[in-house]
Amino acid sequence: MDENTPISILAKEFSKLPGIGNKTALRMAYFYVQNKNNITPLISSLDNIYRSVEKCKICNLITYKDSNPCKYCADGIRNKQLICIVENDTDVAQIEKSNSFKGVYHILGGLISPLSNISHNDLEIESLKNRVINNDDNFEIIIATNFTTEGEATSLFIRQYLKDIRNVKFSRLANGLPFGSNLEYVDSYTIGKAIERRIDYDN
Ligand SMILES: [Zn+2]
Repeated sequence: MDENTPISILAKEFSKLPGIGNKTALRMAYFYVQNKNNITPLISSLDNIYRSVEKCKICNLITYKDSNPCKYCADGIRNKQLICIVENDTDVAQIEKSNSFKGVYHILGGLISPLSNISHNDLEIESLKNRVINNDDNFEIIIATNFTTEGEATSLFIRQYLKDIRNVKFSRLANGLPFGSNLEYVDSYTIGKAIERRIDYDN
């Protein structure tokens, strides 16, 4: 198919969505061609998202523009010195479901992955450093990236990158989460236990 037709341009956009291959993207594009009455609600919904949603200025969690910082960062009861680092917003939802964590979060926005050309510069690591550096408080950072090659590489990088910051203690989610596990698919009980039994990083 000609790459510059409106349908292939739309299909190309859909193919950027997680889990959507080229074939499905093309079917989605044709769906909108054949069901034009579904286009207007899609446009207005995307426009609404574009206008009203942004990243939390502290933790990078997706939040509404009129409530930034997000509800976790703005919550006076949560422990602001206990920061749980996760790959993305869905991990926060999973950890919240476990009801075992009363600290705050830091969303990296991905994991270091040389194969996908994602380096530490593409992630929110510098903003994490800025949260804790030159601060009189002592912090505990729980690294809760996935137990995968990318998750481990990212975890090690963060540990190394922030090693000279004296007021930070690091921990990693405890076992119970097998290697290869993606937090998105782990049940909340197991996540809760892994947080409770987190291990001091330097042991
Ligand atoms: Zn926040």
